[in-house]
Amino acid sequence: MMGTEVSVYFWHDDAESGSLALDAVFAEAERINQLMSTYIEESPISDINQRAAGEPVVAGEELFHLIQRSLDISILTRGAFDITYDSVGQHYDFRRRVRPDEETVAEEKRLIDFRLVKLDAAAGTVFFGADGVRINLGGIAKGYVVERGVDILRLHGASHGIVTAGGDSRLLGDRRGRPWMIGIRDPREDGKVAITLPLADEAISTSGDYERFFDEDGVRYHHIIEPSTGEPAGKVHSATVFGPDAVITDALSTSVFVLGVDDGLTLIATLPDYESVVIDTAGQIYYSDGLQAPESP
Ligand code: ADP
Ligand code: MG
Repeated sequence: MMGTEVSVYFWHDDAESGSLALDAVFAEAERINQLMSTYIEESPISDINQRAAGEPVVAGEELFHLIQRSLDISILTRGAFDITYDSVGQHYDFRRRVRPDEETVAEEKRLIDFRLVKLDAAAGTVFFGADGVRINLGGIAKGYVVERGVDILRLHGASHGIVTAGGDSRLLGDRRGRPWMIGIRDPREDGKVAITLPLADEAISTSGDYERFFDEDGVRYHHIIEPSTGEPAGKVHSATVFGPDAVITDALSTSVFVLGVDDGLTLIATLPDYESVVIDTAGQIYYSDGLQAPESP
């Protein structure tokens, strides 16, 4: 979904209920994809992107709510997280190594501003304050998918499992008596794990510059846009956030990636339920205040 793989792993005492639960999680992921993918022309989010500069568009409760949460996180992160990044983002095609030229970036980045997205809670509508504004929930929707996925597993009677979509995972309980060991990838060495975290009953998200990218003349062009410049964010190689809610960890991992080590960890320090691990461009690993760095060997 949305260009990434969704995977589900869990225990269930009853094979038939287990199999129903599995189908239900994938059906839910596909339902959310149909609602929120900008690559689907008839999706409600595409409808908003096509029409909301001209008139307020009814979003539907679920989409409205996620857009609202996105804007709240924009305020919290002072604009590092911004779903209007897509005015520039739409010009990238990583598989075909296509990127916007300087003029296009200069032109489109003026439209990156979450304040241009106006919500009317009473009417349930979204309205854009300028022509050309586009929103894309790619930085938060996968967190929503895994959060919903775990709800569904729980409703089907499971109590130990994990649902993953791309860089976002939500853990249900522990791994039957022991914590889940979640590895954070080494951002520059395929298949190598930089560090492993023991976690239970939590969400964990990693944003990295190695998921969707191409290199050109020594520059890595990747999928996380720094809203103030309209260029791919370059301060770190990966940012991981974990805590109770996958919607939040997803959006915050993207945010910390944009903010970099200092501002990113300062932000996380204000959120008692959330912790972060950041790997900078030199491969150095940084931990938020609530974590204890492993002793060096
Ligand atoms: P992944 O997709 O690998 O899990 P992220 O959760 O960091 O990684 O999401 C990256 C996605 O977020 C991009 O593909 C894009 O859709 C969206 N995005 C890029 N830049 C921003 C930004 N500054 N604010 C919000 N969303 C963004
Ligand atoms: Mg994210």
